[in-house]
This record gives sequence, C-alpha cells and structure tokens, in this order.
Amino acid sequence: MGVLIVGSLNIDLVTYLEKMPEPGETVVGDRFESFPGGKGLNQAVAAARAGGDVTMVGVLGNDSNSNLLKQVMLDEKINSDHVREVAGVCGTAIIEVDKLGRNRIIVIAGANSELKANDLKLEILTKIKNRKVLLSQLESPLSELVSIFQVAKSNDFFTILNPAPARKLEAKFIQLIDLLIPNQFEAEFLTGIKVTDSDSAISAGKKLISQGVKSVLITLGEEGSMLVTKESSELFQSFKVKAVDTTAAGDAFCGAIAVALSEEFDLKTAIRFASAAGALSVQFEGATTSMPTRQEIEKLIKK
Ligand code: ADP
Repeated sequence: MGVLIVGSLNIDLVTYLEKMPEPGETVVGDRFESFPGGKGLNQAVAAARAGGDVTMVGVLGNDSNSNLLKQVMLDEKINSDHVREVAGVCGTAIIEVDKLGRNRIIVIAGANSELKANDLKLEILTKIKNRKVLLSQLESPLSELVSIFQVAKSNDFFTILNPAPARKLEAKFIQLIDLLIPNQFEAEFLTGIKVTDSDSAISAGKKLISQGVKSVLITLGEEGSMLVTKESSELFQSFKVKAVDTTAAGDAFCGAIAVALSEEFDLKTAIRFASAAGALSVQFEGATTSMPTRQEIEKLIKK
C-alpha cells in the first residue's frame, strides 16, 4: 500500500431535463442516472486505475447507496477496510443538467460529515510500503483533517491537499501540506489573486508558499499546470486532446500524481504522468467512469 486517500464518498443522482423547474413548478425529466462520486472516491478510483496500491479512509451511511459505493471499491481493488459505516444517508449530490449543459447541484454531506481523526488507525500507518503518500480534499470536517495531516506528517507521509471545494484554511493546516493542488478558482479563493495566466498563477503560488506550503501546483485546465516552489516556477503544458467532458479532470490529475510520487517518480515526471491522466479523463463522460488506466497513461506519454 502506498497511497492513502482520506475523503468523501458520494452518490450522484443526476436528472437530465429540458428546462430546470422554477420554485413550485413540476417538470418531467428526460433521463435519470446515478453514479458513484465524491472527490475522495473519484481520486481513489483515479489512483487505483493509475496503478496505485490504494487505501481509502472515509465514512458511508447505511442506506441503499452504501452497497453500491462498497462495490465500486471492490471492483477497483481499493482497500476499504478503513471505510466506516454509520446510521444515516451516504453523501449525496442531487444534480440537474439542462439541455444547454448547465447544471444545478445540491450536495448533502451525510455520512462524510462524521469522519473523525481517529479513523486513521495506527495499523494503516505502519502497513504502508513504498513512499507513503496521503491525498485529501475538503469535503470532510476541517478540524479532523488537520489532525489527520498532523499524524500523517509525524509518520513521514508526503502530504497532498486538493483544496476543493474551496474553503478557508488555517495557517496550522497550510503548514502541514507538502504539495497543494488547487485549480485556478481555488487558488484565487485562497489568495485573493485572480488567476488568469502564468504570471498570476506564479503570484498566487508564491503567496501560498509564503504562508508555509512546501510546493504549489495550480492546475489551469487545458493550459496545463504551474508548479511554484520557494526557489522556482515552471509551467507544464497539457497534452492536446479533444475534450468531451471536463468533469473530474482535477480528480484524475490528483489521483495519478499521488501514485507517481508513491513510486518515487521525481516531481516533474510525476506532473507529466498526472497531466496525461487529466487529459485522458476529459475525453470521456462522467467522473469515475472516465478515469484512465496505467496503460492508457503510459501510452499517451510515449506518444
Ligand atoms: P479541475 O477539474 O480541478 O478544475 P483542471 O480543469 O485544471 O482541474 O484540470 C486538471 C489537469 O487536467 C490540468 O492541469 C491538465 O493537465 C488536465 N486537463 C484538464 N482539461 C484538459 C483539456 N481540455 N485538455 C488537456 N488536458 C486537460
């Protein structure tokens, strides 16, 4: 086991319809589908497909969606021994998508809000082989995440935070992060600097470094990603592909980079690996369904 992912598991309930209803109005939808989701689970699937030995830490409810989410982890060979089950609903996202592709999303944290610092058990920390990498996002209680990062740091983990959805981070949390991976909007939220190009990405990255993050990698969609460290900055171009659905490109990128770093790839090679995973994910619809395999990632890099 090399990659530890702490985060959310959701079920996404998606209705496709002509036009969204006004308050009080009833409309007939065209189609309904449910998908596994949550940034934690998306990134765990991305990491497992990218070849990682992945352990998930998170909380499920005991409703009918719980079994579906457990089955996803089983199918993807994600270790779910440390996913706890509590009474109540699983994290649920209620999504409407209209004919123009616009969406409206309501997220209920459900069981995800019950994550506790001690869900990270000592036996997980000692079982990990390879370089130990922790990857997390912000769909879990912040105070518990801070404690989890503290324990991980004191057990020699390399810590990665994807600060999504954007939330204010205390200085004591920021200082526990080895690699922060915000997209351009999250970088703006955290720094107040509007990120529109390389220069503004560097300014935002430098501000985060001055707050105590070791390195910052701001993802810029098809423009690639900007790595900022104390000493330098570097733009990594994206792979040119035809984008069909950019949902979860960031999740594919984060899951893949965690795997590459757990295998001791140097940071630049790891970013290239993650960029290939991000590019491949936008070529297909959906979140977990669009995550590429190790073979596909390596093939794109060779090309
Ligand atoms: P998020 O989904 O969190 O907003 P981004 O859209 O910035 O994240 O995407 C993450 C990474 O995925 C980018 O840095 C890039 O490497 C890759 N990527 C995203 N969109 C595209 C695209 N249209 N073409 C090629 N690569 C992409």
